[in-house]
Amino acid sequence: MQLAKRIEKLPPYLFAEISRKMAEKRAQGVDIVSFAIGDPDIPTPSHVVDALCQAAREPVNHRYPESDGLPDLRRVIARWYEQRFDISLDPDREVLPLIGSKEGIGHIALCFIDPGDLALVSDPGYPVYSVGTMFAGGECYFMPLTEENDFLPDLEAIPETVARRAKLMWINYPNNPTGAVADLDFFERVVRFAQKHDIAVCHDAPYTEVAFDGYRPVSFLQAAGAREVGVEFHSFSKSYNMSGWRIGMAVGNAKMVDALMRVKSNLDSGIPQAIQRMAIAAFEGPQDCIAEHNAVYQRRRDRLVEALARMGLGVRSPKASLYVWARVPDGYTSIEFATRLLDDIGVVLTPGIGYGPHGEGYIRLSLTIPDEQLEEGLRRLAGWGA
Ligand SMILES: *Cc1c(COP(=O)(O)O)cnc(C)c1O
Repeated sequence: MQLAKRIEKLPPYLFAEISRKMAEKRAQGVDIVSFAIGDPDIPTPSHVVDALCQAAREPVNHRYPESDGLPDLRRVIARWYEQRFDISLDPDREVLPLIGSKEGIGHIALCFIDPGDLALVSDPGYPVYSVGTMFAGGECYFMPLTEENDFLPDLEAIPETVARRAKLMWINYPNNPTGAVADLDFFERVVRFAQKHDIAVCHDAPYTEVAFDGYRPVSFLQAAGAREVGVEFHSFSKSYNMSGWRIGMAVGNAKMVDALMRVKSNLDSGIPQAIQRMAIAAFEGPQDCIAEHNAVYQRRRDRLVEALARMGLGVRSPKASLYVWARVPDGYTSIEFATRLLDDIGVVLTPGIGYGPHGEGYIRLSLTIPDEQLEEGLRRLAGWGA
């Protein structure tokens, strides 16, 4: 049998080599400490799990769900956007629940990209933006995110010929992997750029609720004109520790939401209704869990940033997201440095090159590491740096 070219063209899995080494070390009895996984370690709040248990017993939830989600859920999402960002959305035309936001992020390329079309994608970035584009037959123009520009793309540097060919633009703030944040001024520049070149904007925003020091991230949809040009992807995974339940949403431009719904209704049969009930419980229930989780992450962030700075690594303390992005010491590539730490002290972190060529020179460490493992990791890093 012959695999399709789109499978052969998939980039090599960055972590394959490191996973192999980790397995090898573990087999030798080495105790590995991993800062690599961006997946909340704290359990889903119990009132949210209770909503699932109750909904699971109701036969109405045993049947096929609707592709566009429960009307109740769409309404609750619209209400949350209103309360949190002061944006009013039409729950029937501007809100679409997703089987985790990754699902919609991957599929929306099918709505805008024909073979040969171009998508503007940040580098470094979450790999699904470029893979979704490639699956749809398109190509990516990578917008570098550099430290000098606070990890925002330089829209002015995008050549006119590229902007004219582009159909879609991907941005993501608070950002994975750099931990950078964006303000309304940046989002308004994106809107003007998109209007000028007739580009659909996708803002991936799973970290708006994971923020520190009192900082409150903004929504792309708060920018003037944003709803005319774009959608925002959001998720329950990071805000409510619900990554295992697979539920998120796209909100914003009605034409984009409708196109995504049409693709999805031909591919999936919606989100299990009992899980939609969890999402309703998460948005409607007590919100203290968010501040509690953020206090845990903030303390971990402070410990980690301090330890990395003491090792002499260039590091900024992130105002939001679950990641610390640090420069590797001179003389190493990001893969060499990650391999060295694994070999020397059994500490795993993610080489920046895995998120794109402009991730080279950096490593990403996740704050979703349980406290005891964090402390053990910090002890080892301090010993290595000494
Ligand atoms: C975690 C993450 C997602 C995926 O979230 P799900 O809703 O769990 O699919 C999307 N984008 C970025 C940048 C992420 O870090």
